Amino acid sequence: MEKIPEFKNITADPYAYCRKYKEETGKKIVGYTCSYTPEEIICAAGALPFRLFGTNEGIHLADANLQSYCCSLVRGILEEGLSGKLDFLDGAVFPHTCDSFQRLSDIWRINVAHQFHIDLVLPVKLNTASARQYMIDVLEKFKKDLERALGVKITDVMLSDAVKTYNQIRALMRRLYALRTKNPEIISGRNFHNIIKAAMIMDRQTFLKKLEKIVEQTENDSGRKIISSNKRLFLVGSVCSHPDIYDIIEKAGGVVVGDDLCTGSRYFEGVMDEKISPLVAMAKRYLERPVCPAKHKELMDRGENIVRMIRESEAEGVVFLLLKFCDPHAFDYPYIKEMLDKENIPCMLLDMEEQLPAEGQLQTRFETFIQIL
Ligand code: SF4
Ligand code: SF4
Repeated sequence: MEKIPEFKNITADPYAYCRKYKEETGKKIVGYTCSYTPEEIICAAGALPFRLFGTNEGIHLADANLQSYCCSLVRGILEEGLSGKLDFLDGAVFPHTCDSFQRLSDIWRINVAHQFHIDLVLPVKLNTASARQYMIDVLEKFKKDLERALGVKITDVMLSDAVKTYNQIRALMRRLYALRTKNPEIISGRNFHNIIKAAMIMDRQTFLKKLEKIVEQTENDSGRKIISSNKRLFLVGSVCSHPDIYDIIEKAGGVVVGDDLCTGSRYFEGVMDEKISPLVAMAKRYLERPVCPAKHKELMDRGENIVRMIRESEAEGVVFLLLKFCDPHAFDYPYIKEMLDKENIPCMLLDMEEQLPAEGQLQTRFETFIQIL
């Protein structure tokens, strides 16, 4: 996997990558917080969409503006904004999803000085008669807001090109994910994590070219079946930006074969129809792709999708990675656990912060769970 070390360096210090990228290309960089951000429109505008991940260091400055009972992802993002580390950003976009992100948007607007700030008020219930047109209108408005903020005109051709690029990236990511599910030891959890994180940071055309090579190389290697007795695990949660967690799982005797994470399958699910208007195609993808707990369709929709994915990945156990004080995921947990119990799928709940607990302690918890599988 010759290209992965490069991704590792970029994900270890994404801010250095952005500063260098800006210096070399002169392009604008737009921060975003959630996988309901239409990155395609930012790319079409000639800017780099950069996912904000919070911090693995201490949170101090954000405590003056946000209650300590907000999730550490949101507090961490604010900490980075207030500390000035994100001074390379030209603006930031905040989709209205969970309450914490909505409050972050308000606080950011007042306290973090960047060139522009755009709110994206998406529909919450995605399967109503009016949701489709509403979603299209929101995307149209976002396009106009971005044109104004960046001083550019975004044409349909630019949007179609961006849609094609994202379709290609997501298709390759799905291929890589399927290869990992079939033969999980072929790519370590840490490497897979670094690739997906790099997808949210790097220039997307450059990333696409490198990803093509990685997938090709992994496909060539995939005939080499690796026999392992590690237990097959499925991760469920929001954002997991800890490459270490995959190493700890592997040391404890497990291996990740699938996930329902924003830093996982949720990022690359769904295809945009290239034959219809690009904004309509984007809206359709958001409406059709499996929801996160901050959006709604049918009552049991998310749980049913998770059970289906677990079955398809042949996972033997499920780990819920719950960020402390994340209400949307905490509210979903009891009913999804009930569904898993009915299907006899064992699961464990790991209540965590952006900073992981001590490695030894975590490894013991995984070992205890893996022993019962
Ligand atoms: S869980 Fe939903 S709201 Fe939270 S970051 Fe992921 S997509 Fe966005
Ligand atoms: S969905 Fe949960 S983890 Fe994600 S920002 Fe909202 S509260 Fe935090």
